[in-house]
Amino acid sequence: MPAIASVEAFIVVVPRDVPYLGPLRAGETINTRGYFIRRGNRSAYPATDTSVLVKVTTACGCVGWGESYAIVAPGAVAEIVTDLLGPLCIGRDARDPIPLHEDLYDTMRVRGFVSGYFVDALAGLDIAVWDAAARLAGLPLCRLLGGQRHASLPAYVSGLPRETLAARVDLARDWQAKGFDAVKFAAAVAEEGEEAEMAALRRALGPGMRIACDMHWKHTALAATRLIDRMHAHDLWFAEAPVAPEDIEGQREVAAKARTSVALGEEWRTAFEYRPRLIGRCMDIIQPEMAHTGVTEFMKIGRMAEAFHCRVIPHASIGIGIFQAASLQASVALQNCDGHEYQHSIFDRNLRFVTGDMACADGAYRLPSGPGLGVAPSEEVWRYARQHHPA
Ligand code: MG
Repeated sequence: MPAIASVEAFIVVVPRDVPYLGPLRAGETINTRGYFIRRGNRSAYPATDTSVLVKVTTACGCVGWGESYAIVAPGAVAEIVTDLLGPLCIGRDARDPIPLHEDLYDTMRVRGFVSGYFVDALAGLDIAVWDAAARLAGLPLCRLLGGQRHASLPAYVSGLPRETLAARVDLARDWQAKGFDAVKFAAAVAEEGEEAEMAALRRALGPGMRIACDMHWKHTALAATRLIDRMHAHDLWFAEAPVAPEDIEGQREVAAKARTSVALGEEWRTAFEYRPRLIGRCMDIIQPEMAHTGVTEFMKIGRMAEAFHCRVIPHASIGIGIFQAASLQASVALQNCDGHEYQHSIFDRNLRFVTGDMACADGAYRLPSGPGLGVAPSEEVWRYARQHHPA
């Protein structure tokens, strides 16, 4: 039996010149830990690209890699992996990722750790075990998940990290010229307002381009509904995260009243968090984030959404490319998946950190070939990574 012999965690911190979502605005400063608050959505962001890698090695020498969401306080995620979850995996069969995930999730539910950093740590570990399981089977992960439903995945360009609306419009035009037919802009940095940004983009890009708005949880249900209506006049593709993530009733109200598709879910980690929103018809599109869910929950969420006739367009967060590959492998296995977010300012610069032929060009992702995830950390990443040992 290919028993798990070791589990290791590595914190990766890659400096970047321009923060994710674009330059700092007036009044925004980076603190001593490298974080700053975007005033537009009151959220903490890192000035670096930060994540946690998880390495699982079996007694027979098979290695699987995973990556967790850990863009702030990555030490918390790494500590949960090395102190708690990793040691519980030793001796377990790497070909049993789902039973292992179930058992690890169960260890903390009586304490209420059913989301947050605990599940993020579990997600990275889960991806690593699935990678090892698929490599042991000699199959690409998508085949182990039931088969490759989609040959490629349409990619939408997410975020236009420029300082002014005119520069963001120019950047969207550049992407259109490169063969991308869908783009999403971010309310947190749309100083002139979402409606003005939407109108300017539509004018510049023409009727064939799909344009979505990430509303960044900023509004009340009533204000969101009115704003979506005004953007609908410019043929809005979907409205993402219109109200506070805790406001299930508000989510339901917006989805019921809006004439545009509502997309939700990047901040939820388990099927239990999606379930009441699916029952409540709070959205038309779900956006699971692989670095929060891991493969096991991602597939459970995706299949559950299918039963509610809900579409899947996964989220893409900050990482070096390991969870991105896992997300592509899982996405191509889901019938109800219509495409995938493309964070060009992260994906393109970090592609040097993974081996393999994963790519995004001409409006679509290319699934990395080969067994497992099809990617592994490259030599280059070790310039920015350090192993985390239990405190
Ligand atoms: Mg978003």
